Amino acid sequence: KAAIEKLLWRRSVQLQTEQKAWQESSDGWRMLQLRKNLPAYKEKDAILNAISQNQVVIISGETGCGKTTQIPQFILESEIEYFRGATCSIICTQPRRISTMSVSERIATERGEKLGETVGYKVRLEGMKGRDTRLLFCTTGILLRRLLVDRNLKDVTHVIVDEIHERGMNEDFLLIVLKELLPRRPELRLILMSATLDANLFSSYFGGVPVVQIPGFTHPVHSFFLEDVLEKTGYRLTAENQIDDYGQERTWKSNKQFIRKRKSQIASAVEEALMSADFRNYSPQTRESMSYWNPDCMGFNLIEFLLLTICGNEKPGAVLVFMTGWDDISSLKDKLQANHLLGDPRRVLLLACHGSMASIEQKQIFEKPEPGVRKIVLATNMAETSITIDDVVFVIDCGKAKETSYDALNNTPCLLPAWISKVSAKQRRGRAGRVQPGECYHLYPRCVFNAFAEYQLPEILRTPLQSLCLQIKTLKLGSISEFLSKALQSPELLAVQNAIEYLKVIGALDEKENLTVLGRYLTMLPVEPKLGKMLILGSILNCLDPILTVVAGLSVRDPFLAPLDKKDLAEAAKAQFSRDHSDHFALVRAYEGWKVAEHELGGYEYCWKNFLSAQSMKAIDSLRREFLSLLKDTGLIDGNIVIYNAWSYDENLLRAVVCYGLYPGISSIVHNEKSFSLKTMEDGQVLLHSNSVNSRDSRIPFPWLVFNEKIKVNSVFLRDTTAVSDSILLLFGGSISKGDTDGHLKMLGGYLEFFMDPSMAEMYLNLRKELDELFQC
Ligand code: ADP
Ligand code: MG
Repeated sequence: KAAIEKLLWRRSVQLQTEQKAWQESSDGWRMLQLRKNLPAYKEKDAILNAISQNQVVIISGETGCGKTTQIPQFILESEIEYFRGATCSIICTQPRRISTMSVSERIATERGEKLGETVGYKVRLEGMKGRDTRLLFCTTGILLRRLLVDRNLKDVTHVIVDEIHERGMNEDFLLIVLKELLPRRPELRLILMSATLDANLFSSYFGGVPVVQIPGFTHPVHSFFLEDVLEKTGYRLTAENQIDDYGQERTWKSNKQFIRKRKSQIASAVEEALMSADFRNYSPQTRESMSYWNPDCMGFNLIEFLLLTICGNEKPGAVLVFMTGWDDISSLKDKLQANHLLGDPRRVLLLACHGSMASIEQKQIFEKPEPGVRKIVLATNMAETSITIDDVVFVIDCGKAKETSYDALNNTPCLLPAWISKVSAKQRRGRAGRVQPGECYHLYPRCVFNAFAEYQLPEILRTPLQSLCLQIKTLKLGSISEFLSKALQSPELLAVQNAIEYLKVIGALDEKENLTVLGRYLTMLPVEPKLGKMLILGSILNCLDPILTVVAGLSVRDPFLAPLDKKDLAEAAKAQFSRDHSDHFALVRAYEGWKVAEHELGGYEYCWKNFLSAQSMKAIDSLRREFLSLLKDTGLIDGNIVIYNAWSYDENLLRAVVCYGLYPGISSIVHNEKSFSLKTMEDGQVLLHSNSVNSRDSRIPFPWLVFNEKIKVNSVFLRDTTAVSDSILLLFGGSISKGDTDGHLKMLGGYLEFFMDPSMAEMYLNLRKELDELFQC
């Protein structure tokens, strides 16, 4: 022990010498001057003092003031200064992969080191850390996983949780776990960092801990809303019809003409939208479902138009465009680049900033371009708070946000773009005023802004809790409802009970709320349980390829487009893909066709002809790869497998897998003379959504439909359905117990008895019992 201590001491001394040498070198000195200009630097002593005197400290300050890059570094430097360099261990969590990597790299540069020396990072499937790494950046998910095997975070001296204001599910969850851990580890320091000023909420959660406020600075930013943007163009609204020029070749020369045409197009689209949507009169739900901002037509046109105007005649400065997600960003980028829409390509630096970008692009985002070159960054809401680009002067804000495909894997079941909150809109605007007064163009009218919610609801209150419940069980944190009652803002009891009930019905938890084998596998897959179930069974039954497409398809915006004026054509196009009474299989066929067509100009023409969204197709393609790598992690499939495309599987096998995943989403098909009707146990009569391929059928040769989603408008509508047989439901539905708790007949036995002839039902149930016994053996 004495020898080890001596070694550590020697290493600490060495680290201190190295740190001093760097700070005294000319490069180090220059770097230090840069750092000293950040507002956070001026609070260095106050911050370090607060940390040394309190177990928990909250630090809040404007985005870009230096919290993420400086504060972990202050702690590290001070530990090294006091000869604790070799014994300290600082962990800083980030909600996103990409900021984890870019921040750790930045700090290594500021310290004059290579990444992986004292500063490192770890994200899923990737990392850079060495024996000497003392400051580790990781995603919240990684720290949660570490807690699985290291409940007390032994040897860790500081935990920093960054961006807590975002209130992601994982972050809220981590805070409960850490709060419980603090009494067991009195010497552990917890630092919470937040951009917005709701710091008191967090402070009181931890019993009134101190808050260090970093004063900020920004220049004024002028806001333009949609109506002002149009006025700026000098064009009056006309009711001209929209002109489709999708895919049409355009060159820089014909741009003038293009702008003129576009302006009237935009104007009419906007007018239509404004007329049809006086947002003040709608509830948030209705607003959500309106396709007011459709990136395929109006949003894109407006962004293109604004970019053109800015590149043409505005003062210098970078442009930051907030878009909804990776798929939108990449298609706009392709579109702008393909035809040199923004003029001389040497004078424009077009970059994308989203979860799956390459690291070369990452660096360029922060760099100042050469004089005369305009930097344009197309970003997701990630650039709202976690990444700061200093030279931005113009911001274009589409008003919506969607979780990126990475977040999709992180339990987010719904990937539809949704309106942002007022706080987010202000945050986006603020990004334009870092270096000089700026301008912000909001692509929605002022009345829409006024109708935005003040804050976004924390994720824990707005998303299904099933995955979270599984995680609580995996971490052995006791009773689910008791644990969740300790959250910063607890979800409703009913929501928690529903989630637990659902997990029991699908067989992930047993009656006593313990994880089953299936449950354990599901916790290894960070996707919704129903998708996880399909991936698992698809792997076991060796029909993974089409199942990957089905699962990816359920995670993105509906790839089958249905423009109002061409509804019939669109439905006919979808019908070509359907042969098996299944929306899921129709998607698989559409995707496989796209995969073949992709080689010709990215498959745009194919999509155009078949009313498919090219963005969704691309998103499905990349999600498939993500899901495959997740499955390799669990060991369910061979790590060497590569994706190949083939529709050569047993159709019944696929029905079985889809049924296994979507159960208990089932309805029975009641045939009458000319057509059929549908019934579920909870709702009675239900209807099919009009864009289901099954809605055009008069006869479905199966007795059941499994569905992905139920939407209640006036009646209950089913979306995304697949027809299945008795035997498939019997074998791949849930457990056969009737599960008659408080009047709910949710389990399979209940379904069969409810909908079948009693003697048939009994026969089936006996058969299933025998099979279950056989499997037990
Ligand atoms: P905060 O966390 O308070 O929002 P950051 O610490 O992320 O602020 O950023 C502080 C400053 O460091 C910003 O001005 C930002 O532009 C700069 N910065 C951050 N990351 C990089 C990087 N990878 N390269 C260059 N500059 C960066
Ligand atoms: Mg930050």
